[in-house]
Amino acid sequence: MNSPILLIHGGAWAMPDDAIAAHEAGIANALAAGYALLERGASAVDAVEAAVAVMEDDEAFDAGRGSFLTRDGRVQLDALLMNGANLRTGGVACVERLKNPICAARLVLDHSPHVYFVGTGAERFAMQHGMALIDNTELIVPRERERLMAFQEAELEGAVDTTFSGPVGLDKEKEDVTLLSHDTVGAVALDQHGHIAAGTSTGGTLSKAPGRVGDSSLIGCGCYADDESAAVSLTGWGEPIMKLVLGKWAVDRVAAGATPAEAAQAAIDYLYARLGGHGGMILLDRNGRVGLAHNTPRMAWGLQTADGVQLGVTRNP
Ligand code: ASP
Repeated sequence: MNSPILLIHGGAWAMPDDAIAAHEAGIANALAAGYALLERGASAVDAVEAAVAVMEDDEAFDAGRGSFLTRDGRVQLDALLMNGANLRTGGVACVERLKNPICAARLVLDHSPHVYFVGTGAERFAMQHGMALIDNTELIVPRERERLMAFQEAELEGAVDTTFSGPVGLDKEKEDVTLLSHDTVGAVALDQHGHIAAGTSTGGTLSKAPGRVGDSSLIGCGCYADDESAAVSLTGWGEPIMKLVLGKWAVDRVAAGATPAEAAQAAIDYLYARLGGHGGMILLDRNGRVGLAHNTPRMAWGLQTADGVQLGVTRNP
């Protein structure tokens, strides 16, 4: 019997000092929910789903309620869940009426021959499998209305270069990472039976165009799990991560002999070297080896093993 492991992230960005406590508390709650399941012998998929759902319910994160708003002031959510034991996967994107998109992803994983549903089709699938549909306004918090308004005012004043399709439209050279909150959440787990799983959930980027889907819920981009390589979840500026299929890039390196720590660092280095991208990654293999890397000023994460809990908001030098 394996000793279970749960590794979580709550975004990688220039997190201000006054946001750290809320992120650490949210991650601690998510670890507690997921690890309790692992200790009782539940699957890695169960633990990842539970941990991510806790963070979706926590307004501190850009997932579920409290997410960034689209350009037209709505919340549109994306999530993916993958089981490394059998490669079963469920994904949803652009859902507006589900409180916990990771639970909808779980329903797709469990009950559909398909892998990925979007928009109203995803909502209908979730409803047919027992999930309640809510009003989009229930996902919106005042902080995010204000943040969107401030961003759009800056755009009008020409303080944001919208010609570059980079992080929320900012010019790559002038990228102001303090503006770029990347609070996407994710988890990877190893269960007692020796299987791994991964999940990622996001509200995407601030003032995104309606219908835009980032890396988080795309298989192999923001999330992937295979017992034969590793489980991975990413956060950060989605477009470069997608172009490099970075999650799969990293797990393939583990399969080729790199440690998860080496593969995570190599992936983040590659993201920056190739496309000037910023982000963070957590990685775990079925031998219980973990990796974590980011090139953003900070990344929020938590790790629970049989030896206890470690919580951190790491800072780049
Ligand atoms: N990767 C997410 C996206 O581009 C954003 C984030 O990580 O916060 O949608």
